[in-house]
Amino acid sequence: MGSFSAVDAIEPGGPTRCVAAIAAAALLVGCAAGLPMRHPEPGASLPGLVAGASGFREGVVAVANPYAAEAGARILGQGGNAVDAAVAIAYALNVVEPQSAGIGGGGFMMVHLAASAQTFAIDSREKAPAGATADQFVGKSFGNASTSGLAVGVPGMVRGTALAVERWGRLPLAASLEPAIALAGDGFAATPRYVAASCNARARHYPEVEAFFCPGGTARVQVGETVTNEPLAETLRTIARDGPDAFYRGDIAMGILEGQKRVRPIAPPAQPLDASYTGRMTLADLQTYTADLRAPVVGTYRGYTIKAMSPPSSGGLTVLNMLGMLERFPLGDASQGFGFGSTRTLHVMTEAMRLAFADRAVWMGDTGFVDLPTRGLIDPRYTALRSALIDPDTRMATAVAGDPRPYDDGPIGGRLDPTEVFAGPGGSTTHFSVVDKWGNMVSYTNTIEASHGAGMFAGTYPAGCAAVSCFRSFGFLLNNELTDFNFTPQAKDDVSGFNPGANDVVPGKRPRSSMVPTMIFDSSGRPLIAYGSPGGATIINSVLNVTLNLIDHGMTLQDAIDAPRLSVTSAAGTVGFDDGAPGGRFQGFAPAALNGLRDLGHPVSGNSPSAIGSVQAVVVEPRTGKQFGGADSRREGTVIGLPRSRGGR
Ligand code: GLU
Repeated sequence: MGSFSAVDAIEPGGPTRCVAAIAAAALLVGCAAGLPMRHPEPGASLPGLVAGASGFREGVVAVANPYAAEAGARILGQGGNAVDAAVAIAYALNVVEPQSAGIGGGGFMMVHLAASAQTFAIDSREKAPAGATADQFVGKSFGNASTSGLAVGVPGMVRGTALAVERWGRLPLAASLEPAIALAGDGFAATPRYVAASCNARARHYPEVEAFFCPGGTARVQVGETVTNEPLAETLRTIARDGPDAFYRGDIAMGILEGQKRVRPIAPPAQPLDASYTGRMTLADLQTYTADLRAPVVGTYRGYTIKAMSPPSSGGLTVLNMLGMLERFPLGDASQGFGFGSTRTLHVMTEAMRLAFADRAVWMGDTGFVDLPTRGLIDPRYTALRSALIDPDTRMATAVAGDPRPYDDGPIGGRLDPTEVFAGPGGSTTHFSVVDKWGNMVSYTNTIEASHGAGMFAGTYPAGCAAVSCFRSFGFLLNNELTDFNFTPQAKDDVSGFNPGANDVVPGKRPRSSMVPTMIFDSSGRPLIAYGSPGGATIINSVLNVTLNLIDHGMTLQDAIDAPRLSVTSAAGTVGFDDGAPGGRFQGFAPAALNGLRDLGHPVSGNSPSAIGSVQAVVVEPRTGKQFGGADSRREGTVIGLPRSRGGR
């Protein structure tokens, strides 16, 4: 096994180019810059991120959809801060990217307040209802379970966003809802992604949803045609007028409870599903739902401080665990056989992923319910032990979970009391990032789990009429987040006592997530970048890839996003990769590098890769305060900077 020390590497950046605008909307402004640059000093301000771009000073949004980006920019322009803008974006996305996220689901909103230099996260992850049981998924197929009410968790977005604006916003919640209400009520021109998703399996599973997205098996709208969702506009008007309680009580709540009673087998004609597939959420579950405030998990990598989402997400712990293992390898140094995209680099990344995901499977879940060795998992002594299992020249035969408990010197990333935080202005799934003119930053990943969630709208049928035309829709899809729990309980089957069942179903518990809103800080503690991604378990690896691209490979922000990504999400899983963002300067990993991985014995997937993740990021250059954004053309990534007259991002 080689031993390596960190070295500076020189990596060429790409030519200046603009990210492709979305044809249907043409709202994109700004242009990314990429210039040759040197690997930064450890912990310095990543100068290549912004080289050559003129930047902004009054805020930047980076969002996976142009209309939602516009919503955020508008709120910034009205004097809202990053929190207000993020909330506006989240609601707008429910309208224009309904398959990914919305009020029927939940997410994690990481906030950095410039005034107090505090970083925290608002956890609006869905919870299991009180009637949930550890064995509720046992013996059920994923397909049937995930399209039944049983998968629906108690939604958190409305509580989470309300908490955010009440404590840290400058505008009332109703103001941040306005752009979404206008989009739903007045309509928007369908984007290619909206149309492409319209006939996904879950958009056709229940007749009311099929009638909205894909009547008769054809997308209801073509690109550029107007989409309206009046039921959703009305739901959002109700929340704007009556506040978040209107969602958790009254008519909307009844619509959620009725919605989650739907049960339908995935491939009719098939055996009808029994009542054990019916959702178990009650009004009490909705009324008692709370969003929580959490400290991020924190680690360092080559002198930078990285703060990332804590449990119930596995994301932050897994990213920091991997970075801890990888730090001894000179990933940026081609002269030592590493460098971006080399077999060696891809190999050690794969090995770190295999080891970290083995730990994730055993040790990560909602720490409110299981005592887990969170700090141990990212302790440098533990990650050094795990790293020692990585041989840069040979594939590990099996990667198994380790035992971080001896290194666990106390919890990290736990719940915070809101009073501890400074109050004052300050595919499926979707990630966006915002910075405002005061320097506050938000990194927010939001989801309803699968594309179109459980495939069912909140809504009710009146007594005596089961025709789709009688359905009273509330216009939003319900999540299927509870399928992120273990299908088979692990704690009770583990006679050794090693496996704590970290992610077994428990009433009130949140299913383990992979969502990892992340921020990097320089060695002086100044925030540099906020970023994250959708993509299920691959989220974790998208964040790892981008982090290495920035810190080890010295890429510009846009190149770091555009570059091809590698991902394996279990110890024995297939190694996936993508070709990079359309329109970027990359044409995938070199075939020889991938064949080198195969020669080492890695099960690398075939040659038709599908996109991994969709990273949206904002950057602040700490010496000048200039702000920049980067978005991912794997989806409809859009950056808008203020003031709009400025060209460069
Ligand atoms: N439910 C997933 C999670 O929380 C996100 C789903 C996705 O990104 O597609 O990890």
